[in-house]
Amino acid sequence: MTVCITERCSRELRDWELAAAMLICRPCHDQMRHWLQQIPAALIVLRDGSMQRERTGDSGGRGGTRTAPLPCREDVLNLIGPASTADVHDPHADQTGQRPLVGVLGDWVRVVCEERRLNGPAQWTPEALAAWLLPHLGWCSQQQFVDELHRELRDLTWHIRSITRTAVRTRPVSRPCPHDDCGQLTLTQTDGDLYTRCSNCGRCYTASELNDDAAKRAAAA
Ligand SMILES: [Zn+2]
Ligand SMILES: [Zn+2]
Repeated sequence: MTVCITERCSRELRDWELAAAMLICRPCHDQMRHWLQQIPAALIVLRDGSMQRERTGDSGGRGGTRTAPLPCREDVLNLIGPASTADVHDPHADQTGQRPLVGVLGDWVRVVCEERRLNGPAQWTPEALAAWLLPHLGWCSQQQFVDELHRELRDLTWHIRSITRTAVRTRPVSRPCPHDDCGQLTLTQTDGDLYTRCSNCGRCYTASELNDDAAKRAAAA
């Protein structure tokens, strides 16, 4: 049995995934695509947020509090700002806080460019880098580094969500896990996740796989 190599995923690779030389499962691939697609919208919120805090600070804030609380501003500016030189030369140095979007995405664009002998995007912005990476995710899924790419995009997404305060909710799904070895009532659905996941066996399912299973169970009953 060959399983997906991303952290926290143990989905068994389907025959067609193996035939396509994929090292990760389709759900993990689609998750990365989803994370990259979210970046332009997140940037609008992040940029607006950082400007709003600046304006609040300039106006003196409420009740003459000159130093308005700026809990996230530094964080935001760091995230949406340019990559520092240290990032370029030493991407894995110990650093506090999240590296800028341009740094993380830019490093992966460089990897793909080098390996595939391509030119990167014309503009070195988070939006352009994310859009440029999208059509290469299939190829990335065949490379040993794909688990690292998956982890970095996940961390980036979590960091963005922690700043934009996007509430991510997870709800229980009231049907048993379709897998014969499991069958527990431990399925959950999380906002923004295209898959329903089982916390007992770690498998994940598409909506159509769950529907097929429901139909099968109804027919058997
Ligand atoms: Zn996976
Ligand atoms: Zn299960």
